[in-house]
Order: sequence, then structure tokens, then C-alpha cells
Amino acid sequence: MSRASNVRRPTGPDFWTRELIRLRFAGRCCRCGKDGWTIQHRTPRALGGTKDPAINAPSNLLWVCGDGTRGCHGHMESHRTESYEKGWLVRHGTSPEAVAVHLWDGRRVLLDNTGNWSHAGSPRHP
Ligand SMILES: [Zn+2]
Repeated sequence: MSRASNVRRPTGPDFWTRELIRLRFAGRCCRCGKDGWTIQHRTPRALGGTKDPAINAPSNLLWVCGDGTRGCHGHMESHRTESYEKGWLVRHGTSPEAVAVHLWDGRRVLLDNTGNWSHAGSPRHP
């Protein structure tokens, strides 16, 4: 793979990727269903580094409220066991596309890298 350019990339997803994530969740925080405004990385950036393009792939990104210490983003960071169970965090070596995300309304969905999702089924919504 060649380097596309020497433009310095920001550490987060680019504008269009952010828009894709926002629209995928209709602007709602995927944990509480209220207005969200920030991106949660399912595979944490700190360990994966920012050079790996998978880090900012749509399947790795959730739309949430709060920030690293508050709201649902903060909750996900501080309740890691729950977050791994619910697909809000994904362990390294596991593809985020293969891990269902639990949404606020009980749905479980698999996220792909084009902005779509598919239902993974749930007890309430088989
Ligand atoms: Zn929230």
C-alpha cells in the first residue's frame, strides 16, 4: 500500500466518516438514544495507534454522547467489562464488523464499513 499523500492526518475520523457515523445512528447516542455528538472508538486508539486505517473504519466507530469522562462515552470508558459484552468496545485482534453492538432500544446490530448495519437479533426483537 502506498502513502496517498504527505498530508498530515488528524487522529480522528475525517469529516465524511463522522457524518456517516452520525447519520447511521440518526444523531442519537447508541447507548442512551439521546442526542449524541462525539465518536467512540470500539477498538481503543491508545493501543492500536492511529496509523492503522481500521481504527477509523466505520465499523469501529459509534456515535455517543458525553466525552472521555462524562455521559455515555465516559460510561463506556469506565465500565469496560459491560462495554466489551455489549460491543461498545472490541478487543484487539477481533474484527469490529463481527461483534454486535447493543443499542438503547434493545436491538443488536452488526456494523459494516459502508455505513449500513444488519440486525443480529435479540430476545425482544428476533
Ligand atoms: Zn448517551
